[in-house]
Amino acid sequence: MQFKDEVVLITGSTRGIGLAVAQAFAEQGACVIIIGRDGPQAQAIAAQIRAKGHLADGFGCDVTSLANVQETVNKILDIHKRIDILVNNAGITRDNLLLRLDENDWDEVIRVNLKGVFNVTKVVTKVMLKAKKGKVISIASVIGITGNIGQSNYAASKAGIIAFSKSVAREFAYRNITVNVIAPGYIRTDMTAKISEAVQAKVLEHIPLSRFGEVADVAGVCLFLASPAANYITGQTIVVDGGLTI
Ligand code: NDP
Repeated sequence: MQFKDEVVLITGSTRGIGLAVAQAFAEQGACVIIIGRDGPQAQAIAAQIRAKGHLADGFGCDVTSLANVQETVNKILDIHKRIDILVNNAGITRDNLLLRLDENDWDEVIRVNLKGVFNVTKVVTKVMLKAKKGKVISIASVIGITGNIGQSNYAASKAGIIAFSKSVAREFAYRNITVNVIAPGYIRTDMTAKISEAVQAKVLEHIPLSRFGEVADVAGVCLFLASPAANYITGQTIVVDGGLTI
């Protein structure tokens, strides 16, 4: 029960990596806060986690709205009193080659993936500053390090998260708040299910560990970064990609 009595807010935790992260923290005794745009769905997921004997609550919140984030965090604090760990996980793709990339698809990806991280981190770190401790973990992507054809918007948003986190890590180190990033490679979720089988087969050829990642592979690193074992790690990006970018 490594995270007993701690409150962990995970954005985009109604499915995929975020849900696996929430389940992993819940199994370690944390009270997990499930966030997605669909409130009833977030509450239903939280109820499923509670049905397994763990602690969870769910809230509808669009991370692109600073006002909505502030309102949601106020509600969480009213009920749960604290937020010890933040996992910025909500993210989307709107892939296209630059010449065909619609302005709205550029804006939307930056709004959700990068401004969303700014909004939630800004509001939640205020709580952590008062507590004089906290762990912020954001899920970027190896694409934010290597770039990728057809993903200029996504790559820019994820590279932005890495640079943002290094800056915030420097700003908050004096208050014992660490800020780190996980950059996953190809992890099997709804997001990657959209990728054609031909492209998936090509990617697999370049993964030394010869498999796509599972959500649990990312969740495990999240638990590590949130644990006391990682107390002296800040401003770092941990790549979880089976060796894809070696
Ligand atoms: P999914 O598409 O499976 O899940 C995304 C989650 O984000 C959902 O819970 C969704 O809920 C939520 N979400 C989307 N937009 C918003 C918003 N505006 N406000 C609040 N919540 C939102 O994605 P994955 O699990 O695959 O990915 C999770 C993260 O990991 C993303 O940041 C992604 O970029 C990153 N990643 C994923 C990789 C992969 O291979 N799968 C590889 C590298 C990085 P709802 O739609 O109900 O709001």
